Amino acid sequence: MSRLCTLLLFLLPWVAGILSGCGEKQVDSSRGPQAYPYQVTTTVGMITDIVGEVAGRHAVVKGIIAEGVDPHLYAATINDVKELRAADIIFYNGLNLEGKMGEVLGKLGRRKPVHAVAKGAVEVSGYALLDEEDYYDPHVWMDVRGWMSAVEVVRNSLQEFDPQHESDYSANAEGYLDTLKRLDAYAREVLGSIPENQRVLVTAHDAFGYMARAYGLEVRGIQGLSTEAKPGLRDIESLVEFLVERRIPAVFVESSVSRKSVEALMEGAHDKGHKVVVGGELFSDAMGGRGTYAGTYIGMIEHNVNTIARGLGGAVPEGGFREWMKSDR
Ligand code: ZN
Repeated sequence: MSRLCTLLLFLLPWVAGILSGCGEKQVDSSRGPQAYPYQVTTTVGMITDIVGEVAGRHAVVKGIIAEGVDPHLYAATINDVKELRAADIIFYNGLNLEGKMGEVLGKLGRRKPVHAVAKGAVEVSGYALLDEEDYYDPHVWMDVRGWMSAVEVVRNSLQEFDPQHESDYSANAEGYLDTLKRLDAYAREVLGSIPENQRVLVTAHDAFGYMARAYGLEVRGIQGLSTEAKPGLRDIESLVEFLVERRIPAVFVESSVSRKSVEALMEGAHDKGHKVVVGGELFSDAMGGRGTYAGTYIGMIEHNVNTIARGLGGAVPEGGFREWMKSDR
């Protein structure tokens, strides 16, 4: 140890933290859990759920965007900002899903670990879907394989944040990923049972692009990737033409988006002599109620897969995914 270092340590112990090479390595108190369980704050339910699965007993996970709420239009409340400030680590989707929260998340990122899960997932997997204007499609959870990459991003981030419990995060993620792998196979089988000429999913906004690519569907949304812009009359008219021409039997509403535009579409088709029904309500950007099966990521995907298959003439196994898993596959 140099004489200068010795002197500084002796006279001014509080300076030691900013000097490297003097004595023992300083612990950076701004990183890592300060106590257990530590607090994780998340945005949408799809992320809250997978973080809870991987973190297990080591963390309390608080999601700020409730069921039925559209994240594209969501602005953080004063209470949300409190939860984000209280968090030890933050996970959000990114790719502009939480478009109105970008600034607050950016600011917090200078003070604590803040991870954009879907952005990380598409970077790792090369999964990204872009629209005609080269905007990233943020709805990565609609492809179970894509969300498996998100689980890996969460696992890696928690291991970096809390290396002491690295093996727990590995084990939690491994078990969960195994179930997701089977969920992916289930979705492939059930959606694959829809007659080929009816594999067309018409919804309120373009949330199902990843699902379409993964499981062989064609998708049309009345609104684009975000719900921020209002649909124009031309969008509705051209989709009405499409429904009539292709004899599409059903369209789908979304739990977090107004039904109005879908109803206009059905009326338009009806006026042209083609009957279209609501095939069911899908969870696009929000999950079902907290504490229910549809309030988990697995339950949300199963609900969507079964609803789409039933609405478009496919076959859903009796007992759904849970019974299907028990059979030897
Ligand atoms: Zn969306």
